[in-house]
Amino acid sequence: MKLLSVIVPCYNEEENIRDFYDELCKNTDFFRQKEIEFEILYVDDGSKDNTVSEVKKLRGEDERVRLISFSRNFGKEAAIYAGLQKCRGDLAVLMDADLQDPPSLLPEMYAYIEQGYDSVATRRVNRKGEPLIRSFFARMFYRLMNKISRTEIVDGARDYRLMTRPVVDAILSLTEYNRFTKGIFGWVGYETKWLEFENVERRKGETKWSFWKLFVYSLEGIVAFSTVPLTMASVIGVLFCVLAFVMIIVTIVRKLLFGDPTSGWPSLVCIIMLVSGVQLFCLGILGQYLSKTYMEVKKRPIYLVREEVD
Ligand code: UDP
Ligand code: MG
Repeated sequence: MKLLSVIVPCYNEEENIRDFYDELCKNTDFFRQKEIEFEILYVDDGSKDNTVSEVKKLRGEDERVRLISFSRNFGKEAAIYAGLQKCRGDLAVLMDADLQDPPSLLPEMYAYIEQGYDSVATRRVNRKGEPLIRSFFARMFYRLMNKISRTEIVDGARDYRLMTRPVVDAILSLTEYNRFTKGIFGWVGYETKWLEFENVERRKGETKWSFWKLFVYSLEGIVAFSTVPLTMASVIGVLFCVLAFVMIIVTIVRKLLFGDPTSGWPSLVCIIMLVSGVQLFCLGILGQYLSKTYMEVKKRPIYLVREEVD
């Protein structure tokens, strides 16, 4: 008998816990035929509503339900890490609690594992039901990211992914504090099959991601998986030096030939503003990397468990 762990990060998802369970159970017949057992691991990411008690209620009805509850909100990335760490399955799948990752895809995903793939990932082909401006920035982010990072990050990729044990262990071996899971999946490699599906809108409740949160998250992704901004800072520095050098020569030659009196302090002010702006910008880039390094060096735990139902 094989075991499949379903890992569900939940943050204030009280309305979705049972729906998710019911929907998942509709699709378990296929796995029963294949002699695969389930365990459903809800990772409560410090919810402030009744998520925990909902999970416990479910647990009372079904032994296969497990719960890890964090001491506070650590973020989805931490929840994913905890789930992967605590799961016992030979296979693991990550799914959102809001049913945006349709469980009906699971049989097809498993079929590819049987064919020998190490992991089966999903991406949505459209962003139906999402604010336009959000989709626009998301697309920009992926395009930029793939230009400046050697790790492939697929546009529209979801965290919905079925993995074999070696892949799970590989992901766990990356113990960094700033976890950008989409990048980590790409970084570990392995034979990955991509499945596509139409975007499904969240069943109940609201998205936990504001535009600002997403923006900060995208910056984190860039800092975590690319050092191109640092190189860019040096290149800009060199360019400005070359420019300044040419200007010095021009000024001297002009003085010698025409005895030109120095004039125009407005242009000088503009140049000072521009150059100090560029300097601050580059310092900021450095600061981003420094702050991430600072957080890594502290070696704080990625999450803290308040309660566990095994
Ligand atoms: N989530 C979490 N911690 C957080 C934010 C979200 O565990 O800090 C979970 C959330 O409960 C859901 C999943 O991550 O199961 C995806 O979140 P959401 O649906 O809000 O994101 P979206 O689908 O809009 O990108
Ligand atoms: Mg969602």
